[in-house]
Amino acid sequence: MAEACVISRLAVIGAGLIGGSVARAAKAAAAAQTVVVTDASAEARKRVREIGPSFADIVAETSADAVQDADLVVIAVPVGACGAVAEEIAASLKPGAILSDVGSVKASVARDMAPFVPKGVHFIPAHPVAGTENSGPDAGFAELFVNRWCILTPVQNTDPAATETLQAFWEKIGANVAVMTPEHHDLVLAITSHLPHLIAYTIVGTANELGDVTESEVLKFSAGGFRDFTRIAASDPTMWRDVFLHNKDAVLEMLGTFNEDLSKLTRAIRRGDGEALFEHFSRTRAIRRGIVNIGQDSAAPDFGRPHGPLPIAPIARPYASDDD
Ligand code: NAP
Repeated sequence: MAEACVISRLAVIGAGLIGGSVARAAKAAAAAQTVVVTDASAEARKRVREIGPSFADIVAETSADAVQDADLVVIAVPVGACGAVAEEIAASLKPGAILSDVGSVKASVARDMAPFVPKGVHFIPAHPVAGTENSGPDAGFAELFVNRWCILTPVQNTDPAATETLQAFWEKIGANVAVMTPEHHDLVLAITSHLPHLIAYTIVGTANELGDVTESEVLKFSAGGFRDFTRIAASDPTMWRDVFLHNKDAVLEMLGTFNEDLSKLTRAIRRGDGEALFEHFSRTRAIRRGIVNIGQDSAAPDFGRPHGPLPIAPIARPYASDDD
């Protein structure tokens, strides 16, 4: 007999990378019986209809229509828009429904949405720590959350049974679930996600402005580390603008610590202090190995990128071995 769905009717608002992945994963894993999707953009709604039942059973014209009779509503729009969407759907939410989101910042989203949550609706903000640099309805895929963390940040007096149901939903689509306060989430993500994005946005901009290294040289030799920054710096500008505006305090706190550490390394380079540099790089290498060991990244060479077939021509000596 088929396993029962966790959710009878799921509504997803925002058919982009994350909303599209939640909807596809819910369908693929049979986590929800019926999946309703909507998006502010008519073009996105049209695209979801074209993609068909692997994405959504029903495409609703408005957010208020989408949430009718839904047991779980997942808001998957930029964090700056979450409050307005909560206001728009408030009157249409079913009593007993779970209202959640996927925003990359939690305290401000919880604050913006809470005033509109009707009595009897269980509000549980959430953040799946998974993503790519792509956006829009074609960007999502059902496996995005497999073996990734989803952080739930229940607000005061949340019904534990509702939190358990939301946890079961995320687990069914492959995620591991952690629970913490919105404030703690914002601090953790400031260092693990928001600051790295800020650094990538900065360094790619800096490279673009260099005078004596040409743009073609930057592109040609990008495999030396820069290429990974360019991937991160290609992330959606609207989403990331909202992240920095809404997690301002935690990001500024982490940025202060980062600047102090950068000054220490700058000083070590200036003084030729190899010991300090070696000690620092050894520590960071151990952190990287820890991440690979717990399965949050691959140890495959070149960051796990798939490679096409190697050139057929033999590699010129002296690089080739003598006996080939
Ligand atoms: P996305 O691909 O740009 O998708 C967002 C979608 O929401 C767009 O189709 C957008 O339509 C639509 N939208 C915007 N305002 C709306 C509204 N008021 N009502 C209905 N639809 C609306 O972005 P995403 O990457 O999925 O990000 C969505 C959320 O997930 C954000 O809160 C982000 O912080 C969070 N998140 C992102 C990642 C990541 O790596 N990308 C990871 C974890 C969590 P338009 O294009 O017409 O504006």
